[in-house]
Amino acid sequence: MLIGPQNLAENLARVRSRIAAAAHAAGRHEDSVTLIAVTKAQPPDTVRAARALGLEDFGENYPQEALAKIEALGTGAARWHFIGQVQSNKTRPIATHFAWVHSLERLAIARRLNEQRPFHGPPLNVCLQVKLADEPAKAGVAPEELQQLADAVAALPRLKLRGLMCIPPALLDEAQQRGHFRRLRELLEGLRAAGHDVDCLSMGMSADYELAIAEGATHVRVGTALFGPRPASTQ
Ligand SMILES: *Cc1c(COP(=O)(O)O)cnc(C)c1O
Repeated sequence: MLIGPQNLAENLARVRSRIAAAAHAAGRHEDSVTLIAVTKAQPPDTVRAARALGLEDFGENYPQEALAKIEALGTGAARWHFIGQVQSNKTRPIATHFAWVHSLERLAIARRLNEQRPFHGPPLNVCLQVKLADEPAKAGVAPEELQQLADAVAALPRLKLRGLMCIPPALLDEAQQRGHFRRLRELLEGLRAAGHDVDCLSMGMSADYELAIAEGATHVRVGTALFGPRPASTQ
């Protein structure tokens, strides 16, 4: 589904003002929250329009789809965040073209990204995706294994461990959603107490980014609230 520039500008203004209100209510500055515009299933023109409105951070789930848009905007025109499941045979384009990976959950993948990250340029920023609920089909490292993975990833020189990411199960009520976000914040605090230099919480999507900000989100990943519903064939 395509969105007009007028609607996009209005949606962006609404999302930004809600982010600011949620941040202020939590005693935080709105600049402490980075809005990542999730552009999966959106065409390059929509990404260009979003960039022209001042958005600088874009989230994509599929490397091939992302590359077309990264090329369309031009190298260096935006910061690209990989937020989808990383397949081991698709690590190279991610290591080459993205500034961040939010969805790291396995050491084998981390090692490949570390090897493939180009030496010119900065390390790849990574968040570890944590599975907070017992959902067999969902991605993420179990909380009990988080510390070990964090230690191993932090030792990789071409990656920079920045924090944690989660996707709470759908259909939770507000208190349950908030509980998940709080739990992720506590896990981050645990890593800090163990000596890790981490400060990012990538949590909150269109339906729940205000709750996530109340619990300390530093990066919210918002698609539908900016661009409208995606075609049914994509998740
Ligand atoms: C698609 C997606 C989003 C954005 O979801 P919306 O509900 O459209 O805001 C955020 N995070 C991840 C990991 C996604 O896959």
